[in-house]
Amino acid sequence: MVEKRFIYDLSEGDASMKPLLGGKGAGVAEMARVGVPVPDAFTVTTEACIEATKRDGRWPDGLREEIEEGLARLEERTGKVLGGSSNPLLVSVRSGAVVSMPGMMDTILNLGMSDESVAAVAQESGNERFAWDCYRRFIQMYGEVVEEVPAYLYEDALTGLKAERGVEQDTDLTAEDLKGLVATFKEISAEHLGGEWTSDPREQLHRAVDAVFRSWLNPRADVYRRANNISAELGTAVNVMQMVFGNRGDTSATGVCFTRDPSTGEKSLYGEFLVNAQGEDVVAGIRTPRPLAEMRDVLPEAYDELIATMAKMEAHYKDMQDMEFTVENGRLFLLQTRNGKRTAAAALKVASDLVDEGVLTQHEALGRIEPSQLDQLLHPAIDPAHGRTPIAKGLPASPGAAVGEVVFDADTAAERGGKGEPVVLVRYETTPDDIHGVIVAQGILTAHGGMTSHAAVVARGMGKPCVAGAGGIKIDVKARTLTIGDRVLNEGDVITLDGSTGDVYGEALDLIPPQINEDFERVVAWADEVRRLGVRANADNFEDATKARELGAEGIGLCRTEHMFMAADRLPAVRRMILADNQAQRAEALAEILPMQQSDFEGVFTAMKGLPVTVRLLDPPLHEFLPNLVEQSLLVQRLETAGNDGAELADARETLSQVKRLHEQNPMLGTRGCRLAMLYPEIPEMQTRAIVRAALAVLDREGETVKVEIMIPLVALTQELSAQRAIVEKTVADELAQAGRELDYTIGTMIELPRAALLADQIAEHADFFSFGTNDLTQTTIGISRDDAENGFLTNYIMDHVLERNPFETIDVDGVGQLVQMGVDKGRSTKPGLKTGVCGEHGGDPDSVEFFNSVGLDYVSCSPFRVPIARFAAAKAVL
Ligand code: ADP
Ligand code: MG
Ligand code: MG
Repeated sequence: MVEKRFIYDLSEGDASMKPLLGGKGAGVAEMARVGVPVPDAFTVTTEACIEATKRDGRWPDGLREEIEEGLARLEERTGKVLGGSSNPLLVSVRSGAVVSMPGMMDTILNLGMSDESVAAVAQESGNERFAWDCYRRFIQMYGEVVEEVPAYLYEDALTGLKAERGVEQDTDLTAEDLKGLVATFKEISAEHLGGEWTSDPREQLHRAVDAVFRSWLNPRADVYRRANNISAELGTAVNVMQMVFGNRGDTSATGVCFTRDPSTGEKSLYGEFLVNAQGEDVVAGIRTPRPLAEMRDVLPEAYDELIATMAKMEAHYKDMQDMEFTVENGRLFLLQTRNGKRTAAAALKVASDLVDEGVLTQHEALGRIEPSQLDQLLHPAIDPAHGRTPIAKGLPASPGAAVGEVVFDADTAAERGGKGEPVVLVRYETTPDDIHGVIVAQGILTAHGGMTSHAAVVARGMGKPCVAGAGGIKIDVKARTLTIGDRVLNEGDVITLDGSTGDVYGEALDLIPPQINEDFERVVAWADEVRRLGVRANADNFEDATKARELGAEGIGLCRTEHMFMAADRLPAVRRMILADNQAQRAEALAEILPMQQSDFEGVFTAMKGLPVTVRLLDPPLHEFLPNLVEQSLLVQRLETAGNDGAELADARETLSQVKRLHEQNPMLGTRGCRLAMLYPEIPEMQTRAIVRAALAVLDREGETVKVEIMIPLVALTQELSAQRAIVEKTVADELAQAGRELDYTIGTMIELPRAALLADQIAEHADFFSFGTNDLTQTTIGISRDDAENGFLTNYIMDHVLERNPFETIDVDGVGQLVQMGVDKGRSTKPGLKTGVCGEHGGDPDSVEFFNSVGLDYVSCSPFRVPIARFAAAKAVL
């Protein structure tokens, strides 16, 4: 048996080893393999992290020794000694997950700086200031990340020193200043740790590796993983890499570049750099960096080599790359490459262009599209006719429009945004710790930082509009004000951001609906060629149905009829129908509702003519159409105490007693769906008449109508379905006979109760089609109330990883999925080729779509705006 290894040297890795070495480790190894200059390194595997995490942080046996050996080999290869008093080796200790999580975990730079090595670094570089700057950066970073010394302690000392010296920039501090600062930083650290500060670099290395392991579980990484559906079980690798220095003077620099524009996908130069700076300075958004094009003038040779390397790595990975580089004394090193995060629009453009450039096949290109990302395309834009002048301008860091109230910290954003209030998070700069606020904000505005700052990268990945580095704005977090010129905005004032232009407006502007562009049309056509699953939409009015059709829906999988009962103009008749004392009264009320239902159906049928429409007969419990029990009781009480004994009170009491009569403790498991139709057959009868009349009217008017599919909800017993089927058939026959017409139609049922799935073979005898109602099926299979799910234990379950995914968002394949599979198989055992679809929320969730494809459903149906996502997801499911 080969013993498990926890360490791989740079030369042992390659791109295929990403699960073990993480994205960063595999990326640098691959670059080294193809001859791109990369600092020497070794990588601690994700498996080491997973094992340590499983054992509450205790390292697996042998890891410590393996790291020692890896370090010894690195020292030998470089001819340097970690923290040595001559020729010292300095390293970075970098986190690197399998799926990139920019900035969410920790990295420590300049490890190896010590009282012993600082003089040697000064001497070798001929730059004393540089040596002491590295040393103070190291203590600060190591202290914060590894020893959890509060960052402000160091920041305050640094700011204090600058004030004392009367300088503004860190770079204005002299070597002597920095020497003093190192002493201060050491005191701060030692004091905070009660004297436990470790100054031995080897020990520091182990502690740093451990800190990176721990950072896998830190709260911001957890928030990021949840938002992006990344499994908490993957673990992070740790890369120990020889330092190269972009802060050695004017012929040194550091930067970040993308091989294409990650906002638009355009093939243009996109990147930023800073002369005389270290990596974090660019991405942390502290100093606003310079556009990459200017590097041609400053460092021409390194620039040319960088451009050539970008092209080489893009061709190599056949995808847009996001790269980090450092130039040390004119010499270029690449520090990272990964497939760049991009907006949905950019993803489509890049896919489309790479096919044109002959780099990718259409199928490969489809594989690069993340279906769930596509709803970004459907974000509204600012109406160009607004005629307002922006009050500030920043960098267009992530496109789209955002309107919302200004908030100044991530916690407030998270709290208010979490309740669904539109907020714009305004920060001096965002740090990875702001992630929980970023996720729920409509948009992000920062005063500092560039196009490649963490805020910008994360925002683009999530499709959040972001304006970064808006230099003209002043933020006073204490006073909670945002000052632009002489305009002062307070927390709660509304602003509008245009992430495509960088414009900021001091008021709410009108937005216009999104436009689907040519790239989308082109790439989605490839998806349509590939996919097997049909895609329909859930819609119950003309507008939604029209939108759905525009977005590519091939029919309506669920036309709910309850909304047709709720509208204000018919609610009185609906209530009369419900509260009727006898059949005659009820028939009268239903007769009033019928023409209104008919006209609703005509709207949907007109929009969908030529396509199938599944109409679900009335589903919700009747009390939903009546006043709420508690509110009605209060109304009666109020009228009583007011001494009201007139008609109003009598009326209120009458209604209350009727509400009480219909009240159920557990209405979702009560008198609803076909159970209601069994009690009041006049209701399905009326609905059927309305459907038939509407279908015929549309045929007459438009020359074409829809394929009518009438669907019976909440069936658990075959007897229910056969009885309802008889009612519908008889009514249709009656309508057609009266009209002297013909109409093709089918009758099917929802499979949304476990019993229906279990007995699907018997149910299929009475059904022309099945539609899986996976919302109710999830609710009734797991026994979780959907309406209370988010307020109750489910949220805790997900937080505590008892459940990885919300089963109402992504289908529970193991449980509910089995019933779907069984329903399809049993149904088709009775009726080979039985048409089956799904109409729950899951129809628009890419992972669920993959499952539905695998069990052989004919189509999925989802809300109109998720139709494009479902089309792509259905294609990916077969690739
Ligand atoms: P993140 O995942 O947050 O980007 P990284 O590990 O990539 O963290 O490192 C943070 C910054 O430090 C990056 O800008 C990177 O380029 C820089 N950096 C990391 N290792 C080195 C090194 N060995 N030499 C110089 N700069 C480095
Ligand atoms: Mg990085
Ligand atoms: Mg249902």
